[in-house]
Amino acid sequence: MPMQAGRPKILGFISEQASAWLVALVVLSVGSALTVVVAWAAADLYQQQVHQRFQLLVNERFTRIQERFEDQEQRLGSLQRFFANSADVSRSEFDGFAQPLLLHARAYSWAPRVFREQRSQFEQQISRQRGEPFAIRELNALGELAPATERDEYVPVLYSQTQSLLGAPLGFDLLAQPLRRSALERAQQSGKPAVSQPMQLVGVEPAYAAGVLLVAPVSKAGDTEPYGFVMAVISMRQLVTDGLPKPNRDNLVMQIVDTSDSQQRELYASSNALGNSHLSSTRRLALGDHVYALSVRASQVFDMANHSSMNTVLAMGVLLSALLSALLYVLVSQRQRALKLVEQRTVQLRLREQELRGAHGQLRSVLNAATQVAIIATDLRGVINTFNAGAERMLGFKSEEVLGRLKLESLHLASELEARAVPLSAALGKRIPPSQAMLVESPDSQHEAREWTLVRKDGSRLTVNMLVTVLLDDYGLWVGHLAIYLDITAQKGAYEALAARDRLLKKLSSHVPGGIFQFTLEPQDNWRFIYASQGMRDIYEIELGVLQQDARTVFERIHPLDAERVRASIRLSALQLSHWREEYRVQLPQRGLRWIRGEATPEELPGGGTLWHGYVSDISDLKRVEEELRALSITDSLTGIYNRRYFQDRLKVEMLRLNRSAGTLSLIMLDIDHFKRINDQHGHAMGDRVLQELCKRIGQRLRRTDVFCRVGGEEFAVLCPGTDGAQAYSLATQLWQSLRNTSMEPVGIVTASFGVASWRADEDIDGLLLRADSAVYVAKQAGRDRVEACGSGQALMPVGAGLLAKKP
Ligand code: GH3
Ligand code: MG
Ligand code: MG
Repeated sequence: MPMQAGRPKILGFISEQASAWLVALVVLSVGSALTVVVAWAAADLYQQQVHQRFQLLVNERFTRIQERFEDQEQRLGSLQRFFANSADVSRSEFDGFAQPLLLHARAYSWAPRVFREQRSQFEQQISRQRGEPFAIRELNALGELAPATERDEYVPVLYSQTQSLLGAPLGFDLLAQPLRRSALERAQQSGKPAVSQPMQLVGVEPAYAAGVLLVAPVSKAGDTEPYGFVMAVISMRQLVTDGLPKPNRDNLVMQIVDTSDSQQRELYASSNALGNSHLSSTRRLALGDHVYALSVRASQVFDMANHSSMNTVLAMGVLLSALLSALLYVLVSQRQRALKLVEQRTVQLRLREQELRGAHGQLRSVLNAATQVAIIATDLRGVINTFNAGAERMLGFKSEEVLGRLKLESLHLASELEARAVPLSAALGKRIPPSQAMLVESPDSQHEAREWTLVRKDGSRLTVNMLVTVLLDDYGLWVGHLAIYLDITAQKGAYEALAARDRLLKKLSSHVPGGIFQFTLEPQDNWRFIYASQGMRDIYEIELGVLQQDARTVFERIHPLDAERVRASIRLSALQLSHWREEYRVQLPQRGLRWIRGEATPEELPGGGTLWHGYVSDISDLKRVEEELRALSITDSLTGIYNRRYFQDRLKVEMLRLNRSAGTLSLIMLDIDHFKRINDQHGHAMGDRVLQELCKRIGQRLRRTDVFCRVGGEEFAVLCPGTDGAQAYSLATQLWQSLRNTSMEPVGIVTASFGVASWRADEDIDGLLLRADSAVYVAKQAGRDRVEACGSGQALMPVGAGLLAKKP
């Protein structure tokens, strides 16, 4: 890779391509090899040092033992001279001299030569001196001391100074035993100290029993023959080990062998364990006439004290190599991992850079694609650094004219900025310069687009909505502002037109009597007013808010007799999309019962349901006039009772009712008798008053169900529903009497002729009328002032003045 060119090597020599394992292995191998070489050199040096140390120890040991041997010879020499120079040595003198010599020797003894002939005298003399029996003795076959056998010569131990607790074997004849004898003979022959062959010493603790006798002849001055022998009993063990380290701490293992001994018996051998090394040394030691071989070898203690540092060196070397290789492994592998990571990151960064470049391009495209929106960014000083295509289109500037040259404030209307800065400063409690008025949020309108006026390049103005956000960099530091402007000039115009129309609508609706509404019936049977003008409140005495929430409140106002009809008509209108028109009563809390007329045109809603546009108006006054007119149309103006038209209408209704269901109906007709005369005699006005009085009297007698009508000038009819012929006849008789019983002053008694007819099954209106009329005619003909009935089959008895006066 090109990235690796010129990169320094690890530790100056390891290529980063090298495997970390290989590096570690090489280092371990080289380290181990070096360790072996160093260990080998150290081992050689060590061997030399150990050898030297061993030799030093051996020399020291040899010197020490040799000195002791010589010391023994000198001590024995001094005892020899003591005897040679003394005429006679008493026992106490011997003790006094020999006592201080007892060092490293078990005992010093004096043994005189006693010849066969001197034996008994000698034994007696010594017995006397000692005050106890004394005999020259020897070891018998059982190993016990017993009086010596007869011999030419004896050398019995006479004095002895010993360290032994066993005491001295006094009287023991040294010649009785071959080894001692040999030593004595050699000493006698040479006149010098002689050493016995190795032997088991008598009168010495067994541990110290292996030893030699060092004997020296004692001669009187001028004599050649010795007269006795001084001897040192030397336990080799005591001699050698006295003052030496204890066996478990001794570096050396020693063996002393008498070279002149044919059996090469061992005089002394160390008890400590032999070491593993092959170090050994042999020296010659001289004592008396003998030469001893001192063999010295290294003990385990020596080995331990001088153990080889080879293993340590090897272990340390290998350990150090391993550590070094591990360190290098970590170093190389870490570095390789770090380099790999760097490469990965570099690749990632490049990808990120490409993405970023793409995103930047995309962002620019997006900015420029937003042609309906002006997007302008500024730096902290307010200098514009982004000006998109939408801004160019909206403001008429080219971006080159603006970027880095103009400040955001220069695009705003200066007077507006100044005007806004004042309340902002007051609200925020600090001075806001006009140049920043559009950037600072007022505390009461957070994050809301606000309206501003911008000035185009040509000086014209436009109204915009502006949204400002603070621009932060990756570290959250404030780097500028981003302003987004939306041209709302057209929108504002439309809004104002809409508002004007709304005002107009409000004005119109407030001046139009009644209320205007939009009402929906939704699929889930929801009744709702979408719009309700002020008039609606007056019509129903319900607040508009309540009305718009729930249209059912209206039905609570509608009269119970009308409510179901209104509901049904609305449903029908929805079903058939037919124009809705309904008049109904409402019962209002304040104004009481009122008549309402509603009209609305339905349209089907896209999601199902129906929408009506309509109005409601109060028609109570109209209804009243209507009622009045209707009453007038059926009322006779002179008498106030129903007129002929009503009579006919009512008769039809009653006849229809009778045709539907069985029942009874009767008709009473009456005609004033000789009315013409009344007119003639009292005037037309009086005739009118008579008419009025008659109606009053008859009206008072009638039942509530009876219908009283004026059917002609002085002709009247009473319609009696639910009344049969007999009842009607009875009623007619009462009416007739009410007239003729009381006079009408100044006219006097006014009478009338009555005809009664009762409805027959399957009879029509004309039939019934004809029969009633006929009855009146019959009454006239019969002399007037009477009641005539036109019976059904059975003729009713006519009632009348004539009838009352004379029987027909
Ligand atoms: P009769 O007993 O045969 O019925 O005799 P009559 O005079 O009552 O009968 P006629 O039909 O000849 O006369 C009816 C009169 O009633 C004629 C008319 O001038 C009079 N008349 C009709 N209408 C009015 C009215 O409204 N006021 C007055 N004052 N007179 C009326
Ligand atoms: Mg008439
Ligand atoms: Mg008449």
